[in-house]
Amino acid sequence: MSSVFEKDKQYILGTYNRFPVNITEGKGSVVKDENGKEYIDLGSGIGVTSFGIADEVWQNAVTEQISKVQHMSNLYYTEPCADLAEILCEKTGMKKVFFSNSGAEANECAIKIARKYAWEKHGENCYTIVTLNNSFHGRTLTTLAATGQEHYHELFTPLTPGFMSVDAGDLAAIKKINEETPVAGVLLECIQGEGGVLPIDAEFIKAVEKWCNENDVLFMVDEVQTGNGRTGELYSYMNYGVKPDVVSTAKGLAGGLPLGATLVGEKAQGVFGFGDHGSTFGGNPVCCAAAISIIERIDDKLLEEVKEKSKKVFSSLEGAKGVESVCGLGLMIGIKTARPASEIVKECIDNGVLCLTAKDKVRLLPALNIPEETLLKAVGIIKNSCAKI
Ligand SMILES: *Cc1c(COP(=O)(O)O)cnc(C)c1O
Repeated sequence: MSSVFEKDKQYILGTYNRFPVNITEGKGSVVKDENGKEYIDLGSGIGVTSFGIADEVWQNAVTEQISKVQHMSNLYYTEPCADLAEILCEKTGMKKVFFSNSGAEANECAIKIARKYAWEKHGENCYTIVTLNNSFHGRTLTTLAATGQEHYHELFTPLTPGFMSVDAGDLAAIKKINEETPVAGVLLECIQGEGGVLPIDAEFIKAVEKWCNENDVLFMVDEVQTGNGRTGELYSYMNYGVKPDVVSTAKGLAGGLPLGATLVGEKAQGVFGFGDHGSTFGGNPVCCAAAISIIERIDDKLLEEVKEKSKKVFSSLEGAKGVESVCGLGLMIGIKTARPASEIVKECIDNGVLCLTAKDKVRLLPALNIPEETLLKAVGIIKNSCAKI
């Protein structure tokens, strides 16, 4: 047995129930373990390696920047950070960006913006943030409070106060909360990733945006998982014709380096001043150079390919034996299987395919540029596994 398994068990806190696979190298959407066994990677590090493993354009961007300056404090300027902010604003119409290092931090920033915006405009009693049941917004105590799933909260209470969650679709519940305790912001995922790849009803998303606008409440979209081309649009909200006040993103943004971003629109762009927020590593030039190499390639052609590949996966899986339903958008796909999802994921590892679960579903988040042939080959292997009922 590999010594990495033993060492991990002895020295790393046991928060991850890992599969016994030690990945040592890879190229694109194929990775290899220490025994040389190959796997088609349909998880891409949970939607992180947007252009696959060891992608050359990404590698060049990273190595070029790393050989110049690997880090400077935010006391000074570096170009990749400003360039990336410009690109993100130009592509979204948002006005300003704050860079951090993870999805949870991107959401923390969004929440702080909503708190300060509401305090200044509506007074100190206006602080409640409404999120959705079954959501996932991160693991810090505040983003856990935002996460509308009780089982993540157990044994970690008290969490940050000021959060309420409602069922997706229940605008009346948001209005009711607002009557009792004024709402500062609503934060939602357009497709709940960890919650089971569940798309939120488009009419509800639009109704929330409208209600937020009418009540001067910040409409905030968590694009940590759905962002950066994943759903066939640059950000998932673009599928619904809405315009958030705040957008948080991370995962696939820098293609495999840690980078979070909170994008702020017209309304809240002036909320933060000097000293209101900060991050030592946030906006790191290597991570930003990496992100530029990713975001610049998420163009209409790539997004079209994401949609095409998505269609093929859906039509291959829908109605297949042992497949109860297929959900999601773009290359964020959930498969409800007759057999337990965890069994299928294990069997797929044996058969050379890495995929994820989300609640009771098998979840696919392949690299955006995965060759269609590779994708469909792996989906075929999943299908065989589903069919064994
Ligand atoms: C993964 C995820 C987060 C948390 O991101 P981290 O980088 O793990 O902190 C937050 N929101 C959503 C929707 C996510 O999928």
